[in-house]
Amino acid sequence: MTDKIEADSELGLTPDYRPLELEKEIRDFWERNQVRAKLEERETNCKGILGFVEGPPTLNGIPHIGHARGRVMKDVRYRWKTMQGYYIPFWAGWDCQGLPVELEVEKLLGVKNKRELLERVGQERFIEECKKVVMRYHREWVEADRRLGIFINQDKAYWTYRDEYIEREWRYLKRAWEQNLLEEGHYVVAYCPGCQTSLSSAEVGYEGSYKEVEDPSLYFKFKKAGSEKEFFLIWTTMPFTIVTDTMLAVNPEAEYASVKVDSEIWIMARQRVEPVMKELNITDYEVVRTNSGKDLVGSKYHYPLMDMIPEQGRLETRHPLVHTVIGEDFVDINTATGVVHLSPGNGEEDFWAAQKHGVPVFAPFDDEVKFTKDAGLFSGIFARDADYPVVEELRNRNAFVEVKKTKHEYPTCWRSHHKLVWLARKEYFLRTDRINDKVLKAAEKIEYFFEEPKNRFVAFLKEGKPWCISRERVWGTPLPVWACESCGQKKAVGSKQELVENAVEKIPENFELHKPWVDRITFKCDKCGGVMRREDYVLDTWHNSGASPYARFTEDEFRKFVPVDFLTEGIDQTRGWANSLLLEYVILTGKPEGPYHAFLFQGLTQDARGRKMSKSLGNVVETNKLLEKNSADLCRFYMMRKCSAIDFMNFDMQELNRRSYQVLSTLYHLSRFFLQNAEFDDFKPSKGALALDRLERPDRWLLSKLQTTIAEYTGKLERCEFNAAVALLEDFVIETLSRLYVPMIRKELWTDDPASLARRERIYSILHYALRTVTLLFNPVTPYLCEALHQKVYKRLDPEISDSINAETWPEPNEKMSNKTVEEEFDTLFKVVSLVYAARQEAKLKRRWPLRTLVVVAPEKVTTMLKKVEPIFLELSNVKEAQYIHESPEDTAGENWVSAIEGELSVKVSTQRDESLLGEGIMRDLARRVQALRKELGYMPTDILDGVHIAELDEESTRLAESYLDEMAALVRAQKVKLHKSREDLKADWHEAELDGKRIYINVH
Ligand SMILES: [Zn+2]
Ligand SMILES: [Zn+2]
Repeated sequence: MTDKIEADSELGLTPDYRPLELEKEIRDFWERNQVRAKLEERETNCKGILGFVEGPPTLNGIPHIGHARGRVMKDVRYRWKTMQGYYIPFWAGWDCQGLPVELEVEKLLGVKNKRELLERVGQERFIEECKKVVMRYHREWVEADRRLGIFINQDKAYWTYRDEYIEREWRYLKRAWEQNLLEEGHYVVAYCPGCQTSLSSAEVGYEGSYKEVEDPSLYFKFKKAGSEKEFFLIWTTMPFTIVTDTMLAVNPEAEYASVKVDSEIWIMARQRVEPVMKELNITDYEVVRTNSGKDLVGSKYHYPLMDMIPEQGRLETRHPLVHTVIGEDFVDINTATGVVHLSPGNGEEDFWAAQKHGVPVFAPFDDEVKFTKDAGLFSGIFARDADYPVVEELRNRNAFVEVKKTKHEYPTCWRSHHKLVWLARKEYFLRTDRINDKVLKAAEKIEYFFEEPKNRFVAFLKEGKPWCISRERVWGTPLPVWACESCGQKKAVGSKQELVENAVEKIPENFELHKPWVDRITFKCDKCGGVMRREDYVLDTWHNSGASPYARFTEDEFRKFVPVDFLTEGIDQTRGWANSLLLEYVILTGKPEGPYHAFLFQGLTQDARGRKMSKSLGNVVETNKLLEKNSADLCRFYMMRKCSAIDFMNFDMQELNRRSYQVLSTLYHLSRFFLQNAEFDDFKPSKGALALDRLERPDRWLLSKLQTTIAEYTGKLERCEFNAAVALLEDFVIETLSRLYVPMIRKELWTDDPASLARRERIYSILHYALRTVTLLFNPVTPYLCEALHQKVYKRLDPEISDSINAETWPEPNEKMSNKTVEEEFDTLFKVVSLVYAARQEAKLKRRWPLRTLVVVAPEKVTTMLKKVEPIFLELSNVKEAQYIHESPEDTAGENWVSAIEGELSVKVSTQRDESLLGEGIMRDLARRVQALRKELGYMPTDILDGVHIAELDEESTRLAESYLDEMAALVRAQKVKLHKSREDLKADWHEAELDGKRIYINVH
């Protein structure tokens, strides 16, 4: 038996909407009654399961408002789909490993690089520190979720560093291994000298990683073998690559020129002669001959630094093409000199060209990208520091032409901002290029909601490069591949069980699937009996989180929940999680299918001025700090309402508190207004079912509008058009309910006459239904306010309803209440009324001043509709009578008329006001001031006053208003209204007010 939830309805609604207090109360209510946990129990009794896997936030930073935006989108969907009757495993998950965490710990420990880390700190201690950092951030994230009202299950969270997760991640790799998709290879990879690891091509492409840097712009020349004065002219911005140069390349189809400069002949692309000579400031030159690129192929050249780098000489003996010109189509003759030098150890295209011809790759670098002793006299120099020494050495050897500085965009490390270096290294690759067809097919089946992010994602996937997944770091999932020291035989392991079965050593007690423990395990080689050791790599952290659809679940859960229904993450995850999830899942299943059916890429969040939020600008809005003083509901509403989910959002604190507060406060006050009136008449919703046959026209209109709102709102949520969806609800609350419907029925509630009780009860049942429906629809967006209204209004009136709004059923449109004709009538009505207002404004006639007559000039269709709602039309226009004509007559145009026109519609309003109209106008002005005072003094709208007294109104106004006092009494809900010449007439508590610039005094009691 479950405990009965303790209702909080007794606390009632305070006169003001005070979201911070209310949210604290509701948060306590949820926690005390385990409201979220109870939703979890609904798995066995639901209309369907919608899988979900959390995109794990990296625990290396404080949650900020950009994170909050994405988490709210997930929570909106969770609460909404739950109300629709689905079960979603909305369980948390945390990304714990990887470079960002390592770098932070290095900083904390005060070590400068990996070598120092390993020597001074040691891996065991380092890993302990990494875990501590992760746990520290975790507390911040859980608190942010709690304040924001994110109903994610923290108890079921997955942690990417835990053994059970890593073990299942290994399963992916084993599958890749079995399909020959995981392999070791020498490839040119982007390498960060700061982090001392390679990066994947996805990481290189991260937004913001290209930065403007300054590099040398060097023209140099290599002497053609067998000639004393012929040189190849070449250009580079990376002089250090001349150390690893092994070939030159020309475009075989292009025309090359031999250019005479002083006593030398320089060879370059024909079309580049003029621009290059101009750049070099050489005016005295002559093209003496032209050749086809093909003619140059096979020419040898003198490598100028041979004396410094003896290894370069040995390379010449290893392959005939070393220091030879080859022909390559990729050589661009539209820039530089059209002759390029190839360093297969430092360039991707260079590397592939060398591979094609079997030319050895010369890459004499250590882990810090310093030259090794193979680089001769350059040994020990950091690659990029060798740029100018190389220039100097070329100058000494008549190989130098000119050097300048150039600024250009160059990729830097997304973490440490070091300039990346391209290096040939031994790495492990997932050969995703071989399954690109399947990946693209899988991507086509996914719903992205918006075209632009989809195109971006698919274009990226089409690149289809092999994925370098090995990292030379410590805090990561170990690569589960063991290699034999003697014969090179390799073995991949897919579980802890397999590890135990293969291990020569006994697995110790405190063992975990991390370095250094896992490195201590050796196998015996099947083939030669030698010792097998683990390949000393950890995995790209994106591989780690990308394994989550399989690794975070049990087998049983995996079958139930994957492929998941819907995911959403930032647009920056195009190359990150969205990509790794897809690639790994295609490898795991071998099928052209993704692990998710839909993926919404959200826009990122910026500051109010549209700048990126960053520590250095000091403009980061931290979620927890924000929510100490600001309401979670307002924040949620604002973030959903402000812009489309895929737009970049400029987060503005001023805006947050303005419009959002107005909307939620209106819903709050409408609910309070309803509750007070309904309780006054002892209304019981259980008895008062909506009697559709006994409705007035405004009721039919309201109910029909509500059906449209339910259908369109739900449809927009389904398409992730959150801002447009919330705008519909906002419009319904502010315009339809508050500005239009309630004023139409308010007067009917201002009486306690038993004769009209039946009508009042009908109004209560309409308001009950409409407001409660809106509250249900709002619940996913502003769950605190909606739970409060559920408890304090609806459960108070009917204790039988669900214990929490989250257990309620999502509203469905009711066809019987839809009435397009009435909606059209009212649309027309409001259009004409707004013309009346425009005309009044033109003549400076306040809306509350009654006028005698107006003329509507409109097509018959319009006037027929207006006549059907004439009493409301006259009431809203505040005019005694209306005439309807189809063509404008001459005689109404005159001095005492004012008109407004829109298209084929026009209205003419008589500006003449006789005494009775003036009197009524004064009465209404007075009534407004009395209403304001009532509110100020804290009277309920339902309270009936004994008396209202007004003193010191001028004589003329007193005379005019005299005959309207009974009407006014009804308007302000008082037994009687009396006018007094002076305040002295009555000893009372007088309140000062102002009417048309004159002072008057009011007393109510
Ligand atoms: Zn780096
Ligand atoms: Zn072996």
